[in-house]
Amino acid sequence: MSTTQTLIPATLIPGDGIGPEITAATVAVLEALGAPFKWDTQVAGLAGVKACGDPLPAACVDSIRTTRLALKGPLETPSGGGYRSSNVRLREEFKLFANLRPAKTIVPGGRFENIDLILCRENIEGLYMGYEHYIPIDGDPHAVGMSTGINTRQGCRNILKYAFDYAIANGRKKVSVVHKANIMKALTGIFLETAQQMHKEHYEGKIEFEQVIIDACAMKLVMNPWQFDVLVTTNLFGDILSDLMAGLVGGLGMTPGANIGEQAAIFEAVHGSAPDIAGKGIANPTALLMAAAMMLDYVKRKDLGDRLRQAIEDVLNKDNIRTGDLGGNATTDEYAKALMTRVRA
Ligand code: NAD
Repeated sequence: MSTTQTLIPATLIPGDGIGPEITAATVAVLEALGAPFKWDTQVAGLAGVKACGDPLPAACVDSIRTTRLALKGPLETPSGGGYRSSNVRLREEFKLFANLRPAKTIVPGGRFENIDLILCRENIEGLYMGYEHYIPIDGDPHAVGMSTGINTRQGCRNILKYAFDYAIANGRKKVSVVHKANIMKALTGIFLETAQQMHKEHYEGKIEFEQVIIDACAMKLVMNPWQFDVLVTTNLFGDILSDLMAGLVGGLGMTPGANIGEQAAIFEAVHGSAPDIAGKGIANPTALLMAAAMMLDYVKRKDLGDRLRQAIEDVLNKDNIRTGDLGGNATTDEYAKALMTRVRA
């Protein structure tokens, strides 16, 4: 890295399961690329519980409050102990209302070619607010399970504005608002209604707009994904659709996500901690590397982001070095070393 370069402070959370393996690989590649980050490493998730009895330790929150920028490995939420998901808490703490999840074909020859979709998911409202309880009846403590979802006008406006502005700024053709307003008339009706109002008032003539019901959208994405471009939806639908979209482009090992708010931005892979392969050195770090490329774009170093994305394409498609989930036999380390050679070239 050039010694004259101004370093940007950023929080690094290695995370749980395969997190430390893919984070180490990503940081090594970023170092070889000359990415201008000065890392402050913090623990959270299961590692946070082990280190200080809290899945979201205060030191981690304080670090992000200072840096306003983080790269995060996947976090496990312990199932016992009444802990709330640290991912959800982080999004709420920093009001990271927009979850941007691109799904783009990198390796050709999969089930679908040339996929290039963007999902904008509302990230802090809806059915993720955790207003849940059981009603005991006749000695069964869980006789009834209840959950209350909340979507606010302002919350809808925030994510819809983000999606429309993103689509226009990035030369996209169409925004599809995905909902279930035919059944959940208030909870997702407010989202559709706000989208229609905002399009009419601010975006008509600037970008094509359509509405799609979530179940039909899932089917259409599998039958003909090219009919979509930018999709915007509520929290739970976005979570489900983004995994579906990851499946269109080679699986969870390939898709990154950015959690964006006014106070901070946290970049991560869409996938979880993959406990089934943790510690084996075979995890695919591409999703986290692509998240790091989004982080470079975010700090206005798109030049480096593009170089990293190009190196990933070249290693996967020209060098044919791939991890097991992509049908190859490279270890995480071997793949990272090939990337380091490419980004230095
Ligand atoms: P998962 O995404 O961890 O794994 C699903 C499958 O995909 C597994 O077979 C796994 O081996 C495979 N896989 C995932 N990432 C891979 C990679 N980079 N390379 C190769 N294969 C990969 O989903 P899960 O098993 O349902 O969740 C495990 C844990 O992760 C749970 O505790 C969950 O709460 C947590 N989680 C965290 C996040 C996050 O931090 N953002 C997201 C999702 C799940």
